[in-house]
Amino acid sequence: MNGKITVFGAGNVGGAVTRRLIERKLCKKVVLVDRSPGKAQGIALDILEASPVDLLEPVCVSGEDLEQTRNSDIVVITAGATRKEGMTRDDLLKINAEIVRECVTKAAMYSPYAFYIIVSNPLNVMCHVAMQAGQIPRTRITGMAGILDASRFQYFISKELNVSVENVQAMVLGEHGEDMVPVPRYSTVAGIPLPELMPAEKLEELVARTRDGGAEIIRLMHTSAFYAPASAVTQMVAAVVMDKKKILPCTAYLTGEYGISGAFVGVPVKLGANGVEEIREIELTGDERAALARSAEKIKAQLAAIGLTC
Ligand code: NAD
Repeated sequence: MNGKITVFGAGNVGGAVTRRLIERKLCKKVVLVDRSPGKAQGIALDILEASPVDLLEPVCVSGEDLEQTRNSDIVVITAGATRKEGMTRDDLLKINAEIVRECVTKAAMYSPYAFYIIVSNPLNVMCHVAMQAGQIPRTRITGMAGILDASRFQYFISKELNVSVENVQAMVLGEHGEDMVPVPRYSTVAGIPLPELMPAEKLEELVARTRDGGAEIIRLMHTSAFYAPASAVTQMVAAVVMDKKKILPCTAYLTGEYGISGAFVGVPVKLGANGVEEIREIELTGDERAALARSAEKIKAQLAAIGLTC
């Protein structure tokens, strides 16, 4: 590994990811790229100017010249547009597909062997766009969603039961959106399955809040979340650069696992130095499997809406 990570998109998520990577000392250099003139430079300079106070090595540069990104170990794609008034979800899908295609095509020219972490929404489709644009093998590309969704679920569970977040594990599969599939049977508090700890109606309430987690933040601050997403990306980066072989809920390209082929879906993934080292198949009930299949159908419909085949 060269110790270099490139982040496309110096917005809220890209800036927060950069800061977290530097704080955690997960690389020697972060290269920030943005199409808006001066934005990546500004964020990089702001972070550099904090280095004497934080006593962190100044390792952040702006990649106005893409040569700076050459031979990155990891490329994180957070570039994207947000929905404007009068714009449909399909309009946004097309705009972000163009942005992600452009970024990954450029990134892959300079870093053909990098591991790619996609963040831009709609996440599952953007992973697909990125894989095709960069001709990236499925072991070297994943999307960030499941860690964030599971982390939200864990937090809500910990508040409800008044226990430490450290006691809580949660499992969320499927699409990053309304059709995500939180799986309470595989969610535990100190090893105890969640359904044993709270009534079904309360559980359903927490599941619904988790599904609505992104929208709840947008309603409050009129922009999407970035601290928790940045922490989730950082956990994925750490698993790869430290070869942790950690099983995490990530968005991976399925070729028959869970009976699904040709789509990026949230599943338990082992992340290590070789990227997506394994996709874990866990036993699901008929209802859970059906919910996951519905999630995959929705993703495939979105792919079809922008003319992508599975
Ligand atoms: P933002 O608007 O703050 O930042 C996006 C940045 O991308 C902007 O600085 C913009 O100039 C840049 N950009 C746009 N087109 C570009 C291009 N062609 N090349 C380089 N840079 C380009 O948005 P944000 O809040 O940082 O969110 C970024 C993306 O991440 C959005 O699509 C958002 O929906 C998504 N997101 C996903 C998750 C998740 O769980 N997967 C969580 C939060 C946000």
